[in-house]
Amino acid sequence: MMETESPALAHRTDLIDLASFDGRRTAELCSDYLEKCGLETAIFDEGSLQTFVFFTKPAANVKVQVQEKDYDQAVTRLIEFEKEHPKLVPFIYSCPECGSFAVEYPQFSRKFFSFLLIEWMSSLGAFPKRCYCRKCHSTWPRGHRTEINPLHLERHPDMFVPPPA
Ligand SMILES: [Zn+2]
Repeated sequence: MMETESPALAHRTDLIDLASFDGRRTAELCSDYLEKCGLETAIFDEGSLQTFVFFTKPAANVKVQVQEKDYDQAVTRLIEFEKEHPKLVPFIYSCPECGSFAVEYPQFSRKFFSFLLIEWMSSLGAFPKRCYCRKCHSTWPRGHRTEINPLHLERHPDMFVPPPA
């Protein structure tokens, strides 16, 4: 049976992506935490995009979004959330180079129509799928951290984090 997509799971253009999660449960817990701190959040699941466009098993597909003005505070709260829930750290993506939560997987543009050929070649192995950091533009093979990324605390809150392409 098809799951009816709730409007609450739409990708909202008035908010920005805070972080990517494996699994909706962790994203929901994080979203609840941020809401309790007074921040507006939304959850977006791009699992079907990853499955049907990028031909990949969904990973890092559940996004928590926040208001742009709240972004810096939300990052601080998300680090607190990780400290309170160390068992959930493996489900939250962060960059091994800069500690940012602004991670996409796979690394390809979401404006997929012009890039469809690249996606297809990738599915044939020409380009390996990797995680991508919107902040420092690093890419790395997908994997799970088992402990809090120590680089979170060295982040530069004033550095611009571009929205997903
Ligand atoms: Zn980075």
